[in-house]
Amino acid sequence: MTMQIAIVGSGIAGVTFAEEIHKLDRQLHVTLLTRETCGYYSRPLLSHCFSRTDIETKIVLKSFDALAASGIAVESGAEVSQLDRSAKTLRFHKGGEEKSLGYDKLVLATGSDALVPPPFHSQAGLFHVLNSFDDLVALRRLREKIITQHSRPRWAVIGGGLIGCEVSVDLAKAGDSVVLFHALPRLMERQLTEEDSATLLALLWETIGVEVLLDQAVQGFSGVETDLSVSLASDTMQGFHGIIVACGFRPRTELAQAAGLQTRRGILVDEYLATSDPDIFAIGDSAELPDGKLYAYVTPVRSQALWLAKHLSGQGAGAWQIPVFKPKAKVPGFEAAMPYLF
Ligand SMILES: Cc1cc2nc3c(=O)[nH]c(=O)nc-3n(C[C@H](O)[C@H](O)[C@H](O)COP(=O)(O)OP(=O)(O)OC[C@H]3O[C@@H](n4cnc5c(N)ncnc54)[C@H](O)[C@@H]3O)c2cc1C
Repeated sequence: MTMQIAIVGSGIAGVTFAEEIHKLDRQLHVTLLTRETCGYYSRPLLSHCFSRTDIETKIVLKSFDALAASGIAVESGAEVSQLDRSAKTLRFHKGGEEKSLGYDKLVLATGSDALVPPPFHSQAGLFHVLNSFDDLVALRRLREKIITQHSRPRWAVIGGGLIGCEVSVDLAKAGDSVVLFHALPRLMERQLTEEDSATLLALLWETIGVEVLLDQAVQGFSGVETDLSVSLASDTMQGFHGIIVACGFRPRTELAQAAGLQTRRGILVDEYLATSDPDIFAIGDSAELPDGKLYAYVTPVRSQALWLAKHLSGQGAGAWQIPVFKPKAKVPGFEAAMPYLF
């Protein structure tokens, strides 16, 4: 009987794995399930969503029709809601119907959500995140509305990590006014040395024109629609048209956790990328390796997908090895003097 491989998620992890295993063994039946409908898109390009007018089309790398035409079964617009390990079945909702799919081997490539700090949870209508194609579309519509109503948009970006810095720069490049709030005393403290953080700060303020407020732990937001305020410990800053929360990422572990797989911050895998169920694997932003790390960058995620395809098609040798990779902020004009920390 044909072996059934099911994959949840159509990010770089899921799509790279699907294409590679389909290429390596044409006898396998490969099905990709995803809630996305726009196609396979480049998440790193999301940080350029304001300065590039062609982004909504250029960001899509491959349509789901093209994937299906290559022989991979695609269930798009499908929300996978349950994993039944004893029956080896996934349940999913698509177009108002509940469906199920059996598997012999399952790959969880469920990726990550934007991390929203708990104090902001009750204020969901007042801010945006930039984590998916739908977020990009929503933010671009908001910006168009602001321009129509107020001419020059003024944004609050919360979080001075990699994504917060990139988005702030992109907004400024598009001509908007930006205030970047960061709770810690220096930018991108997880990736950069103190000296490089200082260089980045100078570039953002002096050359690019982003107002950077360090040591400012944002307490919450208030206001309506495009008249918003940011509350700080001892002050409130008013007059923002839009707020973007960029406080990191949260691996999507819910499906795995509800099915009784071992999870911590991510879905726990061994050095062969197997979860605590030997027929279920996890790759990409949602996978936590035995060293306790999440390799949430394009190069290692792609490497995991290619390695797993070889492994499951019986053509691999040895455990997954961390590839050499260099994280890099996509801030024009910024070159770190020292290697990024990981
Ligand atoms: C703004 C931004 C900029 C970035 N820039 C860079 C960069 O410059 N360099 C770099 O190396 N990395 C960058 N990254 C990180 C990089 O994009 C990620 O590491 C990579 O995209 C992870 O891929 P993934 O396939 O694991 O997850 P994802 O891309 O998150 O894909 C997971 C997919 O699974 C789907 N899914 C999840 N659960 C379900 C379910 N239950 N049912 C159906 N579908 C489901 C999701 O809808 C999603 O399509 C950036 C990330 C962001 C957000």
